[in-house]
Amino acid sequence: MTDIDVAGNLREVLAEIPAGVELVAVSKFHPASIISEAYDAGQRCFGESRVQEFLEKEKSLPSDIRWHFIGHLQTNKVKQIIGKTSLIESVDSQKLLDLIDRESAKAGVVTRVLMQVHVAKEETKFGFYPEELQQYFSDRKFENLTNTHICGIMGMASNTDDIDRVREDFRSIASIYRRIADDTSLGLRGFDILSMGMSGDWKIAVEEGANIVRIGTRIFGEREY
Ligand SMILES: *Cc1c(COP(=O)(O)O)cnc(C)c1O
Repeated sequence: MTDIDVAGNLREVLAEIPAGVELVAVSKFHPASIISEAYDAGQRCFGESRVQEFLEKEKSLPSDIRWHFIGHLQTNKVKQIIGKTSLIESVDSQKLLDLIDRESAKAGVVTRVLMQVHVAKEETKFGFYPEELQQYFSDRKFENLTNTHICGIMGMASNTDDIDRVREDFRSIASIYRRIADDTSLGLRGFDILSMGMSGDWKIAVEEGANIVRIGTRIFGEREY
């Protein structure tokens, strides 16, 4: 046990999240024992951002957990996680996407992914630029994928206390998502996930249309890096 009331925090967060919005409990940097507390309280969807850490937890925790990979994924590590994720939310380049597709074909699985879009002002954040993403779809490059299902978009707002700026970022991400989802000429199926919002800004994200929120600190407390 820890001094953090994981079950209580989880209950409070879930009580606030509207129906139709899924909670990813972001458990990165927290030990399996703390994830178990959330699992015992009913949570089944968790988010991890580092391959090695994810693999260790995945091995030791119940098999009905749905794992979302949410961190930058290095191409040399793709193979290790194929078949073990419910959703890779952080596809940030075409090279990565094509590799996920090849490794999924080799493994005989279909991997569900989100395209990560970069709108935040920090240069350090990964993701496709909006124009790049738009181009990827208008060039119909997704048609080359055989074993990857692009389910939607993931994005992050700028890391700032300026809530107008945060809202503006979420609005941009949502508008990119809508433009692709509503373009019937693309013939996409099951492109219906918009993942945005973290502990500090998820309510704004939901107001702007998010249907997945990724919340860590609010549930598990501060991470020790
Ligand atoms: C760490 C992380 C989160 C969770 O952040 P909190 O502020 O702890 O809720 C959400 N999304 C991504 C991509 C992350 O890396």
